[in-house]
Amino acid sequence: MKEAYQGSCLCAAVSYLLLTPPKAVSHCHCSQCRKSHGAAFASYGSVPRNSLRILRGASNIKAYASSPTVMREFCTECGSSLFWSRSQGEFADWVSIALGTLDTPFLPRKQKHLHLECAAPWHAPSAPTLTPG
Ligand SMILES: [Zn+2]
Ligand SMILES: [Zn+2]
Repeated sequence: MKEAYQGSCLCAAVSYLLLTPPKAVSHCHCSQCRKSHGAAFASYGSVPRNSLRILRGASNIKAYASSPTVMREFCTECGSSLFWSRSQGEFADWVSIALGTLDTPFLPRKQKHLHLECAAPWHAPSAPTLTPG
């Protein structure tokens, strides 16, 4: 039996189900992710788009095109960042889930940090070190 993962936004207007565990878990430090999440970095895990089911609040989801090919979806009621997706390229049929919105406990096997060169300087206490090369 496959595990399903459930998540919701801060106000709980939106809730969703993932039919597969999130893959390619990453913590992105780029300035767009920092602003979009209001945080030091954004944590995402990806699932094929057909593994994401919106259980409630589909009409509360708004998409913002942060670049010509990137959509960031959020709750119009509370502003929670929910999903990130790209309209072109290899992963166009995948959607990245903002892991902070997951309600089901989830332990990724692997995870990585992206765009550490843009990391917020005030995140210094536990800033991961850049690997040379
Ligand atoms: Zn909400
Ligand atoms: Zn980013």
